[in-house]
Amino acid sequence: MIGFGQAGGKVVDKFLEYDKRTGSEIVRAAAAVNTAKADLMGLEHIAEDQRVLIGQSRVKGHGVGADNELGAEIAEEDIDEVQGAIDSIPVHEVDAFLVVAGLGGGTGSGGAPVLAKHLKRIYTEPVYGLGILPGSDEGGIYTLNAARSFQTFVREVDNLMVFDNDAWRKTGESVQGGYEEINEEIVRRFGILFGAGEIQQGQEVAESVVDSSEIINTLSGGGVSTVGYAEEEVEERSSGGLLSRLRDDSGEDELDSAHTTNRITSLVRKAALGRLTLPCEIEGAERALLVLAGPPEYLNRKGIERGRKWLEEQTGSMEVRGGDYPYRGAGFVATVILLAGVTNVPRIKELQQVAIEAQDNLDEIREESDENLDDLVSDDSDELESLF
Ligand code: GDP
Repeated sequence: MIGFGQAGGKVVDKFLEYDKRTGSEIVRAAAAVNTAKADLMGLEHIAEDQRVLIGQSRVKGHGVGADNELGAEIAEEDIDEVQGAIDSIPVHEVDAFLVVAGLGGGTGSGGAPVLAKHLKRIYTEPVYGLGILPGSDEGGIYTLNAARSFQTFVREVDNLMVFDNDAWRKTGESVQGGYEEINEEIVRRFGILFGAGEIQQGQEVAESVVDSSEIINTLSGGGVSTVGYAEEEVEERSSGGLLSRLRDDSGEDELDSAHTTNRITSLVRKAALGRLTLPCEIEGAERALLVLAGPPEYLNRKGIERGRKWLEEQTGSMEVRGGDYPYRGAGFVATVILLAGVTNVPRIKELQQVAIEAQDNLDEIREESDENLDDLVSDDSDELESLF
């Protein structure tokens, strides 16, 4: 995982924290790249020698100030420094690269697509992006940056998973507090998704586990993806203890399997029809992956099968995969749905519209600005002479 820019670094940092907390082992290696020294210093979990400061000769560690063209230029110039950090990781042990960035700013917005292009040229492993769209209240320049970066990033990655800050922002909350919660939402969803492909030998075996190849197959074919999520609290039994086994034998405490199946199907509906990381029409999604996470006694094949069928009907896709992710200790059953190859996304069209308006406006102001300055500086009848 490579976090590019401030948002990218913070989100990757959070993934590491999640890994430590849950023992998920999602992140084989992590790095952060930035033009701003202060942002790199604010990270907590990414090792210091995996934090790469680029563009020092150009911006002296002060960032690019939301100029994503400069962000892209610097990333190209200093790509060897980024590669230096990647050289220290055992790439043969990773299933894929994930480049994470906020698309509205400068460093990540410009740099992430450059890095993705570079990685794809060098490695055979898939290169995915996790792109964060700005809130619509952030203003024209951020929207313009995001629209241009989105276009470029989608082209350079094997799949772009998108999270839209605009769909998740809460009014009346401080920006910092808001991001904290949003970042947790990002990591919860993608953590379960990626964690599902990391079941280790010796862990409880699910009825039908999700393998990392199923995530890769769902993402293959490119385009844009979104993720849905729903959870329900359940009471967990102590795992496999003598007492629970005795109770099972007597049958009196056995979980009602019809109830379990119904719970799963309703969770699948909630996840697909509730708030997605990138809100869109799910009809027309090309591929989907359904992951059911929770204590094994709450997972069953029938529930997943029903959920899969329902998703096939809703999306019109024949490529809907599904599987279990036995997950103890959290006290919930959760469904994560990855919808890949979505194309009916009104938010992207709106973003592009606002971006075009912002671009026209900027061009106009630039054109007028020379003239206006000239008017201001020269006296009306040109009587004054400049010194030299
Ligand atoms: P950069 O450092 O120049 O790449 O820019 P930033 O990452 O600071 O900001 C880019 C965009 O990312 C902003 O416009 C916000 O929409 C978003 N952003 C910034 N920080 C966070 C964060 O912690 N979480 C999330 N979800 N979005 C963020």
